[in-house]
Formats: sequence, C-alpha cells, structure tokens
Amino acid sequence: MSTTTVSTPVLEARDVSVHFGGIKAVEGVTLRLEPGLIHGIIGPNGSGKSTLIGAITRLTPLTHGELLFAGEPYQGTRASAMAGLGVARTFQTVRLLPDLNVRDNIQLGADARLGEVEQLPWHRRLRPTESPAVAEAIRRTGLDGWEDYFPSELSYGTQRRVEIARAIAMDPRLLLLDEPTAGMNQSERAEISRLLRDLRDEGLCQLLVEHDVQMMLDTCDYVFAMNFGKLIAEGTPAAVVQDPLVQEAYLGRKGRHNA
Ligand code: ADP
Ligand code: MG
Repeated sequence: MSTTTVSTPVLEARDVSVHFGGIKAVEGVTLRLEPGLIHGIIGPNGSGKSTLIGAITRLTPLTHGELLFAGEPYQGTRASAMAGLGVARTFQTVRLLPDLNVRDNIQLGADARLGEVEQLPWHRRLRPTESPAVAEAIRRTGLDGWEDYFPSELSYGTQRRVEIARAIAMDPRLLLLDEPTAGMNQSERAEISRLLRDLRDEGLCQLLVEHDVQMMLDTCDYVFAMNFGKLIAEGTPAAVVQDPLVQEAYLGRKGRHNA
C-alpha cells in the first residue's frame, strides 16, 4: 500500500474544448494545476493559449468539457464571480480603467475579491485610504511613487505592472497571467520573474503564458505546450522545449507568425 497523499489540484480542466464556429481554438485539453507551482503554457500565436485562459476564467463559454476548482465543478460560475472564488488574472492587452489612478485601479482588485465590484459603481466603492493589500501589491511590483498617476501617463511596461498589482491585491488562490511582460525590457522581465517565484514560494499557484522561452525556463516549474488548440507536450520546461513536437510547432509556422 502506498502512503503517498495525492493533493487536490487547485484547478482541473477535463477534455475542454472551445470552438468559434468552425475554428477549434481549444480542443480536448486536460490539465491539472498543482498547489504551489508556476505552470506555463507555450505555443505559437493562435495556438489557443488565451482562449484556454478565457475558458478557465469563464469569460469564454466551453463547447465541451469540465472545469473544477479545488475539486468542485464551477462551470456555472459567472466570470464576474471568479474573483470571489480566488481566481485572479491579467489580460494579454492591458485593461486598466483610464479614469482611475494607479492606487484606485489596484484597489479594484482588492475589492473584487470581496465580490463588491458588480453591485456598486466604482466611485461609490472606493475607500478614502488604501487597504493594506493594495499597499503591499504596490510595494511588491515596484510601483511606489506611481500611486497618483493615471494609466495614460505610464509606460506600457509600468501599466502591465499595475495589472499584476491589481491581480495580487486580490490575494488570489490562483493567478493566471497572459503575457504579463509583453512590452517590458530584460531587467523588468527579470523582476517580474522574481516576483512570480516569490509568490510561488509563498504557495500561490500560477499559470503563465509568455513568448520569451528563456523567461519560461527561468520561471516555470511545469510547462504545457499547445499547437492548433491541442496539448502536444507537458513536463519540466527543459524537457518540453526539447520535445520534437514542440520544436516542429514553432519551426513549422516560421514566417507565418512572429511567435
Ligand atoms: P494564442 O493566445 O495562443 O495566440 P488565441 O487563443 O488567441 O491564441 O486564439 C486561438 C484561435 O482562436 C485563433 O485562431 C484565433 O483567431 C481564434 N479566436 C480567438 N478568439 C476568438 C473569437 N472571439 N472569435 C473567433 N475566433 C477566435
Ligand atoms: Mg494569446
């Protein structure tokens, strides 16, 4: 008899498909996200990475399959209620509210966890003083001094850090990051990688999509590779990037995509 205890995955997707008309953006994907690990998804442009994150976060309806969070099916949960479950995300394109300063944009994350965002317009909810979770998120993302700036006054890389701070301020149990370092320089990327690993060491389960293979090697504990909507490999980052199917997925599309 084995004495090994099998932990419940933070998230499980079972045979998940998302079709847009005839386009099979995600097809039969089964994966588990384990507690305290940084998981990555790699794959060429158009391989279904963002659609899979959309499906997991309930923004995009499933065509088929099952989703479980901490062992419980949650397909019936609306996207707006995902924060209440403890699922935070950043988007591939920055989605900050232009009329709110950095502090208030991050405060929205902290409020979302409380499930308040839907009920009240933001200007009636914002608190006069920032919550400790917001101060902590600002510090950890290196945004000290930027609190009173508006998104349009920030570089793209700094806007992305505000997005990450907003997600962290939610104190999530699962953090999904869709190309969080797009538009950042090398040293900014290294800082984000460090931050994600610190959060991992504190026990936060993450799912990261990035094009920078070196960053994925440096950051992830476990990697899934997608091509044409399907999972084609999974394992340690070093093993997955060496996988012949993965190499072919990138080489086979060279010239057609800039992935
Ligand atoms: P990735 O993030 O890996 O670059 P996406 O998930 O964005 O890939 O896209 C996967 C495929 O699904 C692409 O062919 C894309 O054009 C298509 N797709 C994504 N979203 C939609 C949508 N809302 N409607 C129709 N097709 C979509
Ligand atoms: Mg994408």
